[in-house]
Amino acid sequence: MSRARVLIIEDEAHIVDVLTWYFQREGWEVLSAHDGITGLELARQQAPDLIILDLMLPGLDGMEVCRRLRQESRTPILMLTARDAEMDKITGLEIGADDYVTKPFSSREVVARVKALLRRASYSEPSRDEPLVFPGLVIDRAGKEVSVNGRPVRLTPTEFQVLLLLASHPGCAFSRDEIIQHVTGVEYIDTRTVDVHIRHLRAKLGDDPSRPRYLHTVWGTGYKFEALT
Ligand code: CA
Repeated sequence: MSRARVLIIEDEAHIVDVLTWYFQREGWEVLSAHDGITGLELARQQAPDLIILDLMLPGLDGMEVCRRLRQESRTPILMLTARDAEMDKITGLEIGADDYVTKPFSSREVVARVKALLRRASYSEPSRDEPLVFPGLVIDRAGKEVSVNGRPVRLTPTEFQVLLLLASHPGCAFSRDEIIQHVTGVEYIDTRTVDVHIRHLRAKLGDDPSRPRYLHTVWGTGYKFEALT
């Protein structure tokens, strides 16, 4: 297994320093961000194994960062909350944080909680072979088969990869470049080919381009998957 990677989103430099020291000593790779926007970007780009998220952040606060992260990934999130802020803890857990630690905390406790979270996450992570099931749509990752309303749909390998990428991250917008790069491994091809794949996919999934049920255009960005009922 490669080195575990933690992302610390916290504006107080000394807390980042201390946690970084502890995690590095455990053999972890540590990424850090000092505000919510940068944290969100790093989380998307670097796909850390776990995120430590402070509630009080400049710009985008921890609650909003947590909410946005949860729309696009299941990466475990440990929240750092101020002492006695009972409401924050409850709200944090409600919007999808997995655990919290109250400041001031011992770094050892944070490391222990993080390890426990990762153990839980690795047990509950759905197997790569499990199908992705949405209303009216099933994507069988192992068999590379897709069915719409119970009827099998024939996709090209590229179309399948595009659909799988988007459907694996519901609600998360991908640029045409990201889609191309992910699917082909090539840095730059004419990104309009993505539009062609999406057009074909929509036709095969029965998606009306003007009111799609699954593959949505994100203006100025690219595309996202969201299954509307
Ligand atoms: Ca803070």
